[in-house]
Amino acid sequence: MLLRQRQVATLVAISLATGVPIILLAHTAAAPYTQLASSTLACVAAVLCSLAARRAIGLARGGWGLIAAGLASWGLGNFYWSYNELIAHAEVLFPSWADLGYLLFPVLAAAGLFLISGWTTVGSRLTVLLDGLIAGCALFAIAWAVTLRSVWEAGADSAFAFVVSLAYPVSDIVLVTMAVLIAARTRRGGRGVGLLLIIGLAGLATSDTMFALDTSAGTYYTGQPTDAGFFLCFAAFGAAGWAAARQPMVFDETGVMNRLQIMLPYVPFGLAAAVAVGQVPAGVTSDAAVAVPMLAGLVLILLRQLSTLLHNSALTRRLRHQAYHDPLTGLGNRALFNERLDQALSSGRPAAIVYLDLDDFKMINDSLGHDAGDIVLRTVGDRLAACSTAEDTVARLGGDEFAVLTGQVDGLEAQAERLLYALREPFEVGSRMVRVSASVGIAVAAGPEGTRPEDLRKNVDLAMYAAKGQGKNTYAMFELSMRQGFDREMMWRAELGQALADRSLHLAYQPIVGLADHRVVGVEALARWDHPGLGPVAPEVFIPVAERAALIGELGMFMLRRACAEFAAWPGARDAYLSVNVSPLQMLDPEFTAMVIATLAEAGLRPQQLVLEVTENALADESEVIGTLAQLRATGVRIAIDDFGTGYASLRYLHLFPADIVKIDRTYVQDIARDPAAVRIVGTLWQLFGAIGLTAVAEGIEDPAQAAMLLELGCPFGQGFLYGYPAPLGSLTSLVVDPVSV
Ligand code: C2E
Ligand code: MG
Ligand code: MG
Repeated sequence: MLLRQRQVATLVAISLATGVPIILLAHTAAAPYTQLASSTLACVAAVLCSLAARRAIGLARGGWGLIAAGLASWGLGNFYWSYNELIAHAEVLFPSWADLGYLLFPVLAAAGLFLISGWTTVGSRLTVLLDGLIAGCALFAIAWAVTLRSVWEAGADSAFAFVVSLAYPVSDIVLVTMAVLIAARTRRGGRGVGLLLIIGLAGLATSDTMFALDTSAGTYYTGQPTDAGFFLCFAAFGAAGWAAARQPMVFDETGVMNRLQIMLPYVPFGLAAAVAVGQVPAGVTSDAAVAVPMLAGLVLILLRQLSTLLHNSALTRRLRHQAYHDPLTGLGNRALFNERLDQALSSGRPAAIVYLDLDDFKMINDSLGHDAGDIVLRTVGDRLAACSTAEDTVARLGGDEFAVLTGQVDGLEAQAERLLYALREPFEVGSRMVRVSASVGIAVAAGPEGTRPEDLRKNVDLAMYAAKGQGKNTYAMFELSMRQGFDREMMWRAELGQALADRSLHLAYQPIVGLADHRVVGVEALARWDHPGLGPVAPEVFIPVAERAALIGELGMFMLRRACAEFAAWPGARDAYLSVNVSPLQMLDPEFTAMVIATLAEAGLRPQQLVLEVTENALADESEVIGTLAQLRATGVRIAIDDFGTGYASLRYLHLFPADIVKIDRTYVQDIARDPAAVRIVGTLWQLFGAIGLTAVAEGIEDPAQAAMLLELGCPFGQGFLYGYPAPLGSLTSLVVDPVSV
């Protein structure tokens, strides 16, 4: 909808209320008095447009002000005319002061419309001016052919009078053109005000033309029906002012012309050409008043083409720059980088990529906010650019990844060191100083036989990951072994994904027993993968693959669901607990607790029957995991710290971890039979665990001597080959196991 319903209703109501009486009153003695009404309406419209001026900002404010002044001028001029004609009964000369008032309206309105339109750039201003002139020429040619010629031929009292009488329709033509241009530039959905102005100006143009025609023919009388156009004009201007006061107009500032704008000048020009040709059968073959504006229009159209071409080429340059550059750092973007890489490799010239990934950049974003992150990225970009030569392409490939494409393949290590060194100085972010490091990968194109761009990108990626693996803040040069490792990893990932889809992963269970009575208190579920080609693959191999491939969430839930279902169907479930290993990555999922609870409910188990084992490193690394652990414990699920003693969790924090059980790693257990120092350590650990309320389980007990020593030291529970190998749950038939020395 171009006009909102309320605008249409207002317009129709005002037009009817004012236009209908004038038509009815025409030919009566009261006709001249309608002038008073049109004057009043013009003044009301002036007030409404000044409201729009108050609401508007920038140039538009002055624009609406000028329109308001123009309307007031018309109204006052018309009051002057009415006063002389109706009250003073004096003959008003033509032209008179009233005409000054009338003519000021188009002049002020044109200036006002120009300001409102908000044309900001010189380019678009020129196009709009040209469009206005083209349309003006064309409309003049049409108006001349249709009406003005007769006015001209009828002659006038003086040349000045003739110019003034022509000035009305001609200025109206300019105004209508401008209003159309404004409506075309207004953003879709907000064209109502522009359309109201067009309607109003069309009404004005009609009345002015009829006035000019009838005056020249000597038949004009005040209040004739064609004067209704004035009412329509002021009603529409008033409504436009009112609408703009409620909601200021918004223009398209993209600098790209819409289809309406492109077509705009051609439509009236085409029409004018058709009208001029249409005159020929009537015998008018050469009329300078048509030919000159048509020729002028043609020249202007050529100028417009030229200006549009220049504008478009500037626009294309700007768009191209935008398409190839990163707006944040001003460096090249991935598209530019890839294009230059393709060019460099296809030319056969030496080429290398130095690829940087900032270390732990997420932490800066998370802790200091994205604005701080942006400042850091910009500064990194500046420093990298400063370390590179003009021949290098420095690009931000996305996020916190930067790359330099260089033809200088000697001394790449030195360049990587320079880049790392450049980042060493702290970054100033507001009042803070932030430190940032990066991991750098380097890959060189393989000589004249060529490297495919995607391979070089992959290589440099692998080299960067190798640098990350070497402890970050360092660089690594690509080596073929990295590719082999990568290919192997990819194969593992694909096969593991398939195994998950086929549900060919399964579980083995190992009993956890009371060391004094050999009674089974729990069973630990351990993941198993029988690889179709390689046979059994150890979880220590495939669990990390699943973690790197982001498959661990799915794999972990699959294992948990399967373990719960198998355990629930096992006769021993009433007297033992189920222990399941979980990866810390699984616990980063905010839904994890809910999923565990749902899985237990599905299997018909109580939370107290489940123990989740987490390695102590998880606790040290991921403070977020601690929240999840606390949540789980609150539901009744118990938590075990797995492989205690192998990681780097500090004893000082042990009591802060939300855990119930601690599983001491088998390396300690192996040592106690032969190493008195290990005995003392384990003995002290038991005391510590007991003091903070943790139950101890010893892992990897293989012979009775170890079991005896552990028992003596006060360890209540244990697990190991001595009490049973991991096996299908169904094979565990008795809840008391016989120790079998390995
Ligand atoms: P873990 O949780 O410490 O599991 C105990 C590992 O020690 C098991 O190895 C088990 O077979 C082995 N083991 C048990 N008793 C003895 C013994 O007396 N001597 C020796 N030398 N080894 C013993 P497995 O099954 O190869 O599992 C290795 C690790 O893989 C597990 O260590 C656990 O951290 C992880 N894992 C296993 N299943 C899963 C799973 O479903 N999810 C996750 N996230 N990790 C799992
Ligand atoms: Mg475990
Ligand atoms: Mg363990």
